[in-house]
Amino acid sequence: MTVRDLHTHSTASDGSLAPEALVDAAAEAGVAQLALTDHDTLDGLDAARRAARGRLTLIPGVEISVTWNKHLLHVVGLNVNPESASLANGLAGLRTQRRIRAVEIGARLARHGIPGAEAGARHLAGGGLPGRTHFARWLVAEGQAKHFQAAFKRWLGQGRPAYVATRWAGLECACEWITQAGGIPVLAHPARYRLTRTRMAALLNEFREAGGGALEVVRAGADPAEVRHLAGLAVGWDLAGSVGSDFHEPGRAWQRLGRLAKLPSQVRPVWHHLGSASPDSSNT
Ligand code: AMP
Ligand code: MN
Ligand code: MN
Ligand code: MN
Repeated sequence: MTVRDLHTHSTASDGSLAPEALVDAAAEAGVAQLALTDHDTLDGLDAARRAARGRLTLIPGVEISVTWNKHLLHVVGLNVNPESASLANGLAGLRTQRRIRAVEIGARLARHGIPGAEAGARHLAGGGLPGRTHFARWLVAEGQAKHFQAAFKRWLGQGRPAYVATRWAGLECACEWITQAGGIPVLAHPARYRLTRTRMAALLNEFREAGGGALEVVRAGADPAEVRHLAGLAVGWDLAGSVGSDFHEPGRAWQRLGRLAKLPSQVRPVWHHLGSASPDSSNT
């Protein structure tokens, strides 16, 4: 059976493993097809592709931050061409937003008596662009939050004192950048958005119309009822299904590379649309 993981992060965004180390860990976990999908950047793809050679199939990907009717959504692009100008330009704009946001998060924390957060988070990001994950890790390291989740609950989550509302990409733009780069737009972790049935239906209609191709039906640690529900949505909207752990770091027991439930058989697998990328297509 081919082990796949089509949603993972590296140090190019908020993962803790460098792209090479991520590929090592994935190969060790038996993953045969791996997508690197960092937040709003393609920076890790070159290194990951080099490390993957002869060991596993690397699907070049990205996870785009989207604002849709005041909801923050994530759209994963699978099999994107890193040379695409329209994708690169779109992502560059989002990274500018991220840079501005990081400074503002730092300013808000400083106003609440916690100075130095932006520099601290930037340091944890290896000099790269700090995201909320880096701020959360810094807050924990500084003793300002008991643990990672608590940092979001107290400071960084929506509506909390250091939450900065940001206008990310439009849904249509994000899908367009991906399809123009030859990739497939995948709506990431749909259950995390806590949408009513009506709102979810509206989202799926718009996503389809924008060129959306798949739903992430299986995520790490999802309960079977959620997987069944999302499988039904995928079939109902004629979308393919994807599977991804959203791996960020080795310490998270519930989020291991390639440790995923099977995609329900009624759902068309998104990897059937990823070309002859799989080194072993004998199963599923
Ligand atoms: P950003 O894209 O910088 O706003 O950060 C979003 C990332 O932070 C997500 O991809 C998760 O990795 C993490 N994250 C967001 N919300 C939470 C939360 N409530 N608890 C834990 N991690 C979160
Ligand atoms: Mn993340
Ligand atoms: Mn996400
Ligand atoms: Mn992710």
